[in-house]
Order: sequence, then structure tokens, then C-alpha cells
Amino acid sequence: MRDVFLNHDFTRVEHYKGILDEAGIPSFVRNESSLNVLTQMPDNTSLPALCVTNDEDYDRAIEVLRAFIQTPESTGPDWKCANCGETVPGNFDSCWKCGTARAT
Ligand SMILES: [Zn+2]
Repeated sequence: MRDVFLNHDFTRVEHYKGILDEAGIPSFVRNESSLNVLTQMPDNTSLPALCVTNDEDYDRAIEVLRAFIQTPESTGPDWKCANCGETVPGNFDSCWKCGTARAT
């Protein structure tokens, strides 16, 4: 198994899992409850993660998600993640790949 996508927004992680399901790529979500019970803030040590069950599906999963992400309704210019260098669509406020927040 291998992490494909990490994000503090669990809804988004689940959404991406649905996309992989449709593409026929076995995957699962771990760290589903990442909210710190005391602060109600995301606990960055355990972000919800979308994982492919089989490592050999990793590249295909990335391609499928990237194709999905890069398709429609971008509301602003793409930006580049300061952490991993991935190009992120303007309507994302954190890197789709590694979860790093957009630099302001
Ligand atoms: Zn990144």
C-alpha cells in the first residue's frame, strides 16, 4: 500500500477515493478521524490519507486524480506548492498532493 493523497479535508479525500473506485483502482482511507478532540483542529500528524492497496497502482492513481483535478472550473491561476513543487489549480487552497497550505 502507498499513500496517494493526504489532506486535512476528509471530504476531499473521500471524494478522491470515489474517483479511484470508478477507475477500478483498489484504495482505502486511513486516519479517518484526524480532529484533535481538544482543539477541534486537524492533527497534522495524522492527516486523512488516501492509499492504494497495491503499490503498482500508484502511478495510475496519480494520473487519474491529476486528470480529474486539472479538468474543470479553476477560479484562479495555478500555483506551485512550496513543499513538493506540484502545480496546484487555483481553486485549491492546499496542495492536492501533499496537503501543504498555499503560501500567501
Ligand atoms: Zn505539495
